[in-house]
Amino acid sequence: MKQSRRTFIKNISVAGLAASTVSFPFISYGRSLTKQGKLGIALVGLGYYSTDLLAPGLQQTENCYLAGIVTGTPEKEKIWAEKYDIHKKNIYNYQNFDEIADNKDIDIVYVVLPNSMHKEYVIRAAKAGKQVICEKPMALNAGECREMIDACKNAGVSLSIGYRLRYEPYTQQIEKFAREQTYGKIRFVNAADGFYMGRPTNHWKIKAAYGGGAMMDMGVYALQAARYSTGLEPTAVSAQQINLDPEHISEVDETTTFQLEFPNNTFANCMTTFAGSVNYLRVNAQKGEYGLEPFQAYNGLHGKLPGGKTFDFTEKHQQAHQMDEMCRAIMDGRSSLTPGEEGLRDMIIVDAIKESIRKGGKKILL
Ligand code: NAD
Repeated sequence: MKQSRRTFIKNISVAGLAASTVSFPFISYGRSLTKQGKLGIALVGLGYYSTDLLAPGLQQTENCYLAGIVTGTPEKEKIWAEKYDIHKKNIYNYQNFDEIADNKDIDIVYVVLPNSMHKEYVIRAAKAGKQVICEKPMALNAGECREMIDACKNAGVSLSIGYRLRYEPYTQQIEKFAREQTYGKIRFVNAADGFYMGRPTNHWKIKAAYGGGAMMDMGVYALQAARYSTGLEPTAVSAQQINLDPEHISEVDETTTFQLEFPNNTFANCMTTFAGSVNYLRVNAQKGEYGLEPFQAYNGLHGKLPGGKTFDFTEKHQQAHQMDEMCRAIMDGRSSLTPGEEGLRDMIIVDAIKESIRKGGKKILL
């Protein structure tokens, strides 16, 4: 792909990162678009999320389509090729993945692998000259995130993180309340999400080597919620971990609680777990409490306002909408709503949460 670069300037202010001006090299989108002007996406890793949410979502997208797949399971090749009309030349495995560089049908590589594999495949995709989307959590730690951002910058490709909620209207309403201080100054945020992970289970999400654990899997949503519902970056964090069933979940956290301190005396109390079902966001402002319950489901979100009032929106397929918006940003040559830097911000805090737990709940300054 012929790439002419221009520099895209974006201001970011990150607790833990020096507030700075960062320039992102960006591609001006030069090639002729295939399939009625749509960008071609290749999904890497055909597990639950790709199978149940992303591939069906790509049947509804306006700016992109499912052009290719990368899988280590030969049986899946035929099933996916037939179901989604994917050409044989657009099917890769983990060994020949780098050859995707020569494939003009593939504009975007979407990494949907276990967390420990995100860094490797984002960097390989960037080196292949492809635009990149990576699932949350961005990587195992902030250091890996920085390597991924640098690789994309050096290759002149964009990097977005699959924070689907940032594209849907309920979450955007909560962000607007914070921006406009609709209910006065925000004092406290309570955010919790989790589910009961069946036991015994052999899933990679309970294995340390894969970057498993409740905090990495679900806790990043509560962390995101604390940040977007205040519109602030935390300055300190304290965290605690309990494992209610250490016989079955021992390598990673099963339940993590963490508290964030924001500038101007705003506080968040967050929880995430594999021990039971929980899913709410509550914001306490000077003029009352509002929030979402659930706040991070794929659909069926519900908004609550002070005085017992509620709000609801017509919902779109979240993943289809997220991918459409990310592709629109690529076509326009601008950063998406959730660039790699947004994933990095979270991982800086997740690193501090882990450090606090290691130090017995000590407050860690960011
Ligand atoms: P999954 O286990 O169902 O799928 C992972 C895929 O990776 C499988 O197809 C597996 O075969 C493949 N894989 C390739 N090499 C592997 C290896 N060495 N070990 C294990 N698996 C290997 O997982 P998932 O639930 O689809 O999650 C994938 C990613 O998507 C994770 O980062 C997860 O956090 C993220 N995710 C995001 C959302 C969301 O709402 N944004 C929802 C679910 C999952």
